[in-house]
Formats: sequence, C-alpha cells, structure tokens
Amino acid sequence: MGIAVEVQHVGKRYGRKLALEDVCFRVPAGASLGLVGPNGAGKSTLLRTLLGLVPPTNGTIRYDRHPLWPDPERAMARVGGFVDMPCFYPYLTAQENLLLLADLTGTPRKRTEEVMDYVHLRSYADERVGGFSHGMRQRLGIAVALMKNPSLLVLDEPYDGLDPARLEDMRRLIEAIRRDTGATLVLSSHVMQDIERLCDFIAVFEAGRLRYFGSPTLLGAGAVEEVLWEIWPVDPALEYLTQMGIPARVLGPGRVSAAWTGDWDLSEVNRFLVRRGLALTTVVRRQASLETRLVRYLEDSHVDVR
Ligand code: ADP
Repeated sequence: MGIAVEVQHVGKRYGRKLALEDVCFRVPAGASLGLVGPNGAGKSTLLRTLLGLVPPTNGTIRYDRHPLWPDPERAMARVGGFVDMPCFYPYLTAQENLLLLADLTGTPRKRTEEVMDYVHLRSYADERVGGFSHGMRQRLGIAVALMKNPSLLVLDEPYDGLDPARLEDMRRLIEAIRRDTGATLVLSSHVMQDIERLCDFIAVFEAGRLRYFGSPTLLGAGAVEEVLWEIWPVDPALEYLTQMGIPARVLGPGRVSAAWTGDWDLSEVNRFLVRRGLALTTVVRRQASLETRLVRYLEDSHVDVR
C-alpha cells in the first residue's frame, strides 16, 4: 500500500508562538487518521498546513510523494476539505455557491448535482445558504470537499455542534464516503467514540508536539480496565472514592470512573457508597474507553516520548 500523506519534521511558528514542533508521521493510502488533543495543541494548525492554507515554518509535507510546497495548487489537485467552518456566500443559493466554485476550479458543472445528491442537500439546492442550519452548512462543506473527487479528505471537527440526529447523519455520511471513494481521511474531533469508530490511526497532540501516533486500540493499552459508576450525586461520590485512595474522575453527569488496579475490593467500595446514601444505579468493569486512556496517557507522558 502506498503512502498518501507524509509529514516530515513539520514545525509552524506564529511570531514567537511555536504552534507545531518537529511533527513526523505517514498515513497509508485509504487509511483514516484522527487528530486529537487538548485545545491549542496544534491540530487546526496542522490541518491548515495540510490544506495548503499556511506554509509550515520547517519540514515537508508530501502527497503521493509530491511535495505540497512550494506549489500547493498542484499537489492539492485531489485533496479536499475544510478547517473551521466552511465559508459560503450567504446571499447565494447552495447550488449557486457550488456552481461558482465549479467554474473557478474548472470542475464540470454537473458534478455539483452529484455532490448535492450525495450529501442529501438536493432538495435545498435553490435555498440561500444564509438560511442554512449548522448541520446543513457542514454537509455543504463536505459537498465542496467532494467536488474534485478527492483521494485525500481533510476535515476539521466535522461532528462539532451537531444535534444527535444530525450527528448520526454526519457519521453515516463520512463512513459512506470512505466506503464509496476509498479516500484517505484526516480529521480532528473531540468525540473519542467517533475517532474509535472511524479511525485506523490516531495522532495525539499536546502543546504542538506529536505525543503518540498509532492504532487507537494500542494507546495506553497497559491500562486495560476501568470501573464505571452511575451514581448520584457525583461530587460526594468523587470525594469518598478519593478518600479511599481511588483515583476517580467525573466523566459526565452521574458518571464517575477510575482505573481498575485490582488492589481494592469493588463490592466493599460499592457498599460504602450506598451506605453513605448515594444513589448507585450501575457499576461496570470494562475495557477503558479511548477517552479515559487518552487522558491517562497525557497525564503519564509528560516526558519526551520521541
Ligand atoms: P487546536 O486546533 O489543537 O486547538 P491550534 O492549531 O488552533 O490548536 O493552535 C495551536 C497554537 O497556535 C495555540 O497556542 C494558538 O493560540 C496558536 N495559534 C493558532 N493560530 C494562530 C495564529 N494565526 N496566530 C498566532 N497564534 C496562533
């Protein structure tokens, strides 16, 4: 299998701010890569450099062995995607926006209909984009990205800000694109379930540096199990667990988890929580989620892992 994306020693500096430092990885053709990490870690900066929007300060990016710089237009011939929110002319209809783009890029006009069909926006083609919901704009952004039949698709937070129904539509759409086009996919997301579901590789960034690149299942695989309590209220639950020396954390409303170390008696702990008057509805011991493993990995890896 060929290498679709090769990033070698890429760094990016904005004035005195180092946004990316010595980033190296390769993505095989047809694979999917998820970029994860805290806000400000450098994900969007990397996506911008991958889309040829900003040049890296150091290093090289190659697509199918062709260097992206100094001639990004040529290397980007079959690269589609967006960073931040895709931008459109709000007073033009969806179809007019796409036609404008087709004419600008020399894409056959008929392709606009195909991509509108694909993202299920055909029935909205004659409506002004200014009236589109966030989810519709995201889908239109994907339609634009698909215009040049990309072999590499780069998407920044495609799941961000969508309500549950639109989120599921977007998941299905991205999975369908992968299945139908075989395109290589690079995306960023804060939603670890989506990364787990979709990505062959993850790249974990922190403070501009690549901390981990590899299979999501192998990230922090040493910490294999965790205990999840569904309990209310969570604040005293967290306090009691911490007092018992159990390094617990709140996952969300009514949900607390801790790494399963095996050196405490789970049934004893549960009895203690119930005796304190907390409403304990569920306890499960399970393979630690990617989210939990990621948090632990970042906590544990404040040493140079390169
Ligand atoms: P992420 O997408 O992971 O949240 P970003 O790539 O947006 O991170 O940002 C990485 C770092 O670079 C941050 O410290 C951010 O403040 C800085 N940064 C990003 N874009 C610019 C810019 N245009 N000018 C100056 N600093 C920037």
